[in-house]
Amino acid sequence: MDELTEKKALEDLREELHQHNYRYYVLDEPVISDFEFDQKMKVLMALEERFPQWSDPNSPSVRVGGGLSPGFTTMAHGYRMYSLDNSYDLSDLSDWEQRNLKLSGQDSFSYICELKYDGASINLIYENGALVQAITRGDGVEGDVVTANIRTVSTIPLKLKGDYPKYMEIRGEIIIPNQEFDRMNQERLARGEELYMNPRNTASGSLKLLDSKQVAQRPLVCLVYGMAAPELDLLDQEEFLVAAQSWGFKVPNTFAKCSDLSQVMEYVNHWSEQRHELPYETDGVVVKVSRKSHQEMLGFTAKSPRWAIAYKFPAQQVSTVLEDVVYQVGRTGAVTPVGQLTPVLLAGTVVKRASLHNADQIALLDLRIGDRVYVEKGGEIIPKVVGVDLEYRKPDAKPITFAENCPDCGTELIRVPGDAKHYCPNTWACNVQITGRIEHFISRKAMDVQGLGSETVILLFQAGLIANPADLYALNPQDLLPLERMAEKSVSQLLLGLEASKKQPFHKVLFALGIRYVGETVAKKLSSAFGSITALARATQEELVAVDEIGDRIAASVISFFQDPRQVAWVQRLADYGLNMEEVSQEDAVFSDLLAGQTIVVSGVFTLFSRDEAKELIQKHGGKSGSSISKKTSFVLAGSDMGPSKKALAESLGVPLVDEQAFMQMLQKV
Ligand code: AMP
Ligand code: ZN
Repeated sequence: MDELTEKKALEDLREELHQHNYRYYVLDEPVISDFEFDQKMKVLMALEERFPQWSDPNSPSVRVGGGLSPGFTTMAHGYRMYSLDNSYDLSDLSDWEQRNLKLSGQDSFSYICELKYDGASINLIYENGALVQAITRGDGVEGDVVTANIRTVSTIPLKLKGDYPKYMEIRGEIIIPNQEFDRMNQERLARGEELYMNPRNTASGSLKLLDSKQVAQRPLVCLVYGMAAPELDLLDQEEFLVAAQSWGFKVPNTFAKCSDLSQVMEYVNHWSEQRHELPYETDGVVVKVSRKSHQEMLGFTAKSPRWAIAYKFPAQQVSTVLEDVVYQVGRTGAVTPVGQLTPVLLAGTVVKRASLHNADQIALLDLRIGDRVYVEKGGEIIPKVVGVDLEYRKPDAKPITFAENCPDCGTELIRVPGDAKHYCPNTWACNVQITGRIEHFISRKAMDVQGLGSETVILLFQAGLIANPADLYALNPQDLLPLERMAEKSVSQLLLGLEASKKQPFHKVLFALGIRYVGETVAKKLSSAFGSITALARATQEELVAVDEIGDRIAASVISFFQDPRQVAWVQRLADYGLNMEEVSQEDAVFSDLLAGQTIVVSGVFTLFSRDEAKELIQKHGGKSGSSISKKTSFVLAGSDMGPSKKALAESLGVPLVDEQAFMQMLQKV
């Protein structure tokens, strides 16, 4: 065979295996036996080994995994991944509908209902029909790149079929079917290993395994529900679901069209009962305004699309015995009572512990040790105790008296007025608090220190080397090498990890400080509002609460943090070690205010600049870029490929279209 023929044979075989794969996993209609499939795969792998020059990252052979990943990089989604607002009854739904009707000036909407698949969300980026990147949801703006792992998931097409747009981001949920999950746990049981909690956590954990061969062993399935594609003009959500199926994705056929909310409720009631018959877990229904043009009118809030809402099924409940209560101290000193339960099966998982939240909650439920309690699992991982079955109460059952002393250091606990939690006030000498703060500081969403984990933190603390996060940066090889389990390699990895962490931006440093109530989002808000640690430390209560979403509680906590000289001292040391204590503004240069007060929607593709560059230009000239066309839109920056439905919408609202040349001319008037 000459080279060309060989190449063609290789490509044909790849194509054939893609087809078999699709028939087996997506359609569930295999046409060849597993044995034949394996034989063909072996032939393909042999050919690929012989002709490395014709390798293809999307070959069917990548399904088996291989190659260790040193860790995951984060990457921004092209289009944000939103969460969903929740609703629990018809009145929530009708409030939502009324708001939307008013906002868009429509008389009615039709809806598509889908099940809400309970797994880990994934963003699949396709270019010219090939999977190029897969990113976890992360915080919605950016997530972890897990492409090699995702390529092993057989229900995800590596090459699309039919007629697809040049660029698109497909949104799906990675799940593990219940049966497969049970099988995994039975195998673990047989090996004497600890059982997995539930399918959702196991699915999301699987995406972060470092060895894609291991991922390939996991029974992961991708169910597709949405997409973002700039050039694709679809009439409605149903058309999308059908198109996605035709490209080769698995879209469950459980979706339904509903012409009003009473039909939506029928769907909800049907699946609220029938969901236990499904092969996978669902915790509700997602109701979506079906027409694309309506969706565009409604747009998004900061967190979620206005055109979609989740309807949560009532939580599942079981009853079991409360055997004991233990107390846990966190890094902020907050003490959480945890109920120890007689193990019981709830929604497919064995539950042994349940959060009791705080003393008020215990009093409210009037709990006693030995009570038969109702345990419920909502969206959260740890189930909660929601009530007591008084029929079973023993006459001598003693009420629970909340711990008076810290379970770790023995210090007497305190309660601050207005806060339901008990705290251990021994901030500077309570071991779990000290190590907890350092563990938080190095964690991935904070300083993301590579080469350092919880165990090492405890080791270093016990060796007297660290008592606060700043001490980490003073570590040196002489101190570390004598320690047990600290070989030269791990020492240099740790020190490199610390050095690299100095590049983390200010808002991550701020989050890492562990100021009570200052979570990731609040840290971002504070960082962009004040710009530096010095300005934040000086901020008054009024200045703090003037910031969007910052209330009295957060403000007071920030102020009391910076009033404590011991806190200031270690934060100052962090600054001395070179951590970022100021926000570096990306848009420092402003070109003009030619577009001040204007909201511009960018649509289609351009030759002079990319869409992101267009948005940057708008910002640098003082304008705002909007996500969807509405009456408030000043004009649409229209590229080629702008969809006809968008054009019609702009026209009907009297919003002018401006092409890229005209736009550039507009900006020349400086
Ligand atoms: P939440 O995380 O509760 O805000 O809900 C939003 C998430 O629901 C999305 O990120 C998706 O991962 C997930 N989801 C599951 N099924 C669907 C569906 N049919 N439509 C939209 N989102 C879904
Ligand atoms: Zn303590």
